[in-house]
Amino acid sequence: MIDPQLNLQPDDEHNRLLVENVHPPEWHNPTPDGRYNLIVLGAGTAGLVAAAGAAGMGAKVALIERQLMGGDCLNVGCVPSKAMIRSAHATHDVRTAHHYGVRVTGAVGVDFQAVMERTRRIRSEISPNDSAKRFSEHYGVDVYFGSARFTGPDAIDVNGTALRFAKAVIATGARAVIPPIPGLEKAGFLTNDNVFNLTEQPRRLAVVGCGPIGAELAQTFARLGTEVTTIEAGDQFLQREDRDAAEILSASLRRDGVDIHLSTQLFEVAISPDGKVLSLETSDGTQQVTVDEILVGVGRTPNVEGLDLEAAGVEYDRSGVRVNDFLQTTNTKIYASGDICLPFKFTHTADAASRAVIQNALFPGPKKRISRLVVPWCTYTDPEIAHVGLYRHQAERRGIAVDTWEVAMADVDRAIAEGDEEGFVKVHCKRGTDTILGATIVARHAGEMISEITTAMAAGMGLGGFSGVIHPYPTQTEIIRKAADAYNRARLTPRVAGNLNRWFRWTR
Ligand SMILES: Cc1cc2nc3c(=O)[nH]c(=O)nc-3n(C[C@H](O)[C@H](O)[C@H](O)COP(=O)(O)OP(=O)(O)OC[C@H]3O[C@@H](n4cnc5c(N)ncnc54)[C@H](O)[C@@H]3O)c2cc1C
Repeated sequence: MIDPQLNLQPDDEHNRLLVENVHPPEWHNPTPDGRYNLIVLGAGTAGLVAAAGAAGMGAKVALIERQLMGGDCLNVGCVPSKAMIRSAHATHDVRTAHHYGVRVTGAVGVDFQAVMERTRRIRSEISPNDSAKRFSEHYGVDVYFGSARFTGPDAIDVNGTALRFAKAVIATGARAVIPPIPGLEKAGFLTNDNVFNLTEQPRRLAVVGCGPIGAELAQTFARLGTEVTTIEAGDQFLQREDRDAAEILSASLRRDGVDIHLSTQLFEVAISPDGKVLSLETSDGTQQVTVDEILVGVGRTPNVEGLDLEAAGVEYDRSGVRVNDFLQTTNTKIYASGDICLPFKFTHTADAASRAVIQNALFPGPKKRISRLVVPWCTYTDPEIAHVGLYRHQAERRGIAVDTWEVAMADVDRAIAEGDEEGFVKVHCKRGTDTILGATIVARHAGEMISEITTAMAAGMGLGGFSGVIHPYPTQTEIIRKAADAYNRARLTPRVAGNLNRWFRWTR
């Protein structure tokens, strides 16, 4: 039987395999044998990367996890959400098959239990990568299960066992913020922590908060056949993104049948015989919506409680553990990585930060600065919205003049052939140059496409260089070369154009 403390349901073969890998029921914590080079608190992406990297180089490493190794990403984040998104895509493709001349006769049905079973199966299939066995046997890491807390500037307690360290990394992640809305607690609600436990499809679902997590899951549930209502206090989806990108997403969600409420506050929840009644405040007055389930995705709060950070002299605030550009906390022996300290709460940033921590904490010589990282991200809706570097308004706020090169997906042959014309690429360059400051892509496969621009930025390649890079025809990524061509065409000043004109007249 799966330990109820692990908050994992149902008790089926997939979840049992997952637990066997990431929190084995028969696990015996090792007996510490002297001081560790590195103790890692938390075995999510940040902790696993730090532990594997340090142990791989020969350091004596302890890794402490209180719940499931793999953290949010494997268990209640990226992996299960992307598995569900794939099922939603499949449903959508079948429903829209007639656009491509394919006739599907009969109703398109979704077997929600099968969707969720597939999601659990995929999670358990991936879980050996993050398993206690792999980390202890392959990497030689001492894996401890239990809650870690500091007992001094270089000491940690885990379930009554005292551990000493030369260096430590706090990688305890973050969890869903629960807004103090009257009646919410009593009515009951879902967060990313338990939504993937569902086995029954909610007929009506309210998604509160339309950031990346809310947007992805709202579209997913809608496409799987749930009646979805979204409630967002801000005036657009994905507050961080440009308005034109967010509006494409709103339009897509509306086509999926999502009932969208922007600039709307949820101020009360009550229970009626018909379901959970949400009272909403909008600019037009108050309104009520009745649903079967409420999914809360209004932000993340750092897991600092219970760590006794004061005992170690580590300062923190509401946004997490305070770190400098080298990811060092106010105790110079202790570093932090991942969602506990980063403004960009992604698996790939947790990974990149932990690689920097290994260098900075364990080796002398040049230190890696977190501010130097070129950070891309993607929201996996349809279309996807991917971004890297600065937005135009951010660059301008820093006093950097910007040229923006924009091309519509509707100008790309492969996008037209695929029926994926919605979206664009926007590349922001330092004015008068091709130095890329940032870019946004809205496209069905934007998450794949953004890496091309990220690579260029990391390598110091300018936008103009893409004109000389052959892209296979027809691919949607050609849009980046088209943006480069637009930049190069604009360099044709009247003087150069005049010279060329004279040259061609002369050589006719
Ligand atoms: C629904 C959802 C979808 C997401 N999708 C994506 C995506 O597509 N792409 C992407 O890049 N990111 C995505 N993310 C974000 C990503 O999951 C996180 O950024 C990533 O997991 C952060 O890793 P971490 O190691 O910092 O923290 P976590 O994964 O939260 O790991 C922290 C670990 O520390 C443990 N812990 C906490 N306190 C203690 C303690 N006192 N003692 C011992 N252990 C402790 C926790 O149990 C946990 O296992 C998603 C998140 C969610 C919620």
